[in-house]
Amino acid sequence: MSASEHPSGISFEFFPPNTEAGREKLKGVRDQLAALEPEFFSVTYGAGGSTRERTFNTVQSVSASGICTAPHLSCVGSDRGELREILAQYREQGVKRLVALRGDLPSGMGSRSELRYANELVEFVREETGDHFEIAVAAYPECHPQADNYHSDLENFARKMQAGADIAITQYFFNADAYFHFVERARAAGIQQPIIPGIMPITNYTRLARFSDSCGADIPRWLRRQLESYGDDSESLQAFGTEVISRMSQRLLDGGAPGLHFYTLNQAEPCLKVLENLGISSR
Ligand code: FAD
Repeated sequence: MSASEHPSGISFEFFPPNTEAGREKLKGVRDQLAALEPEFFSVTYGAGGSTRERTFNTVQSVSASGICTAPHLSCVGSDRGELREILAQYREQGVKRLVALRGDLPSGMGSRSELRYANELVEFVREETGDHFEIAVAAYPECHPQADNYHSDLENFARKMQAGADIAITQYFFNADAYFHFVERARAAGIQQPIIPGIMPITNYTRLARFSDSCGADIPRWLRRQLESYGDDSESLQAFGTEVISRMSQRLLDGGAPGLHFYTLNQAEPCLKVLENLGISSR
């Protein structure tokens, strides 16, 4: 793809930093990525409201770049009143997009959720705020780890799209066929909205393996073994990771993916390298 075919669907996800140094660093990352004119930035949210203020402040800081910024909002561990307050706060702040999730409460944290699933949150946001927000929801090409089976997970996915979601962003994966299969099944189930693949740049094998196990993202054996073999040689690991992710991203775009959503982990370089390989750089 050449830079002139810049896809409109590039977006970047950040987490709310919890130190002053992290906040300063994120401003630099924001500016580097804003130069690519992405469609939006998004900022994660700790289920149960654990990052409520930090997410709010990060949304303010990130949106100062002029790029539309979508806070994530999860419903577990919060009651309707609390969610209503958060929505009002975001409306006041001029936020126009949301990523609506169920979330996962840390173990041991009791739940006082009134809304149990993301479809109920999407319904709630639509009831409370009409069409004000463009709503994104999560999708799982390799199946959500708690789902009974692939079929019921797809039905549950359809339920949240029908509740009023505008787009879906997938969990990351390393197998483009899982994405294509999922999109095909979703279209057969009548889901028309764009499904944006979530892209996780590979920078650290230990962290990636731990996180992938918990969120149900499969690292194929060939990739796992190759990454393991780099040991402490993070430079070679990252170079190989960039090659793998660039190749997969190109395949996704060639196969019709409407964009790419990068899990940045608050780092610009790994995303920029992949995008450069795709011929996408700042204009
Ligand atoms: P749901 O869509 O509610 O699905 C959860 C499970 O319940 C699935 O197994 C589904 O099959 C089942 N289910 C759904 N609806 C029903 C129903 N009506 N009846 C019965 N079963 C049902 N987590 C955070 O804490 N903060 C974040 O900021 C965050 N951002 C994310 C962004 C993206 C793009 C993605 C992909 C994930 C993100 N997550 C985040 C993780 C997410 O919160 C977890 O994966 C969580 O376990 C599920 O959230 P969900 O919105 O997909 O849930």
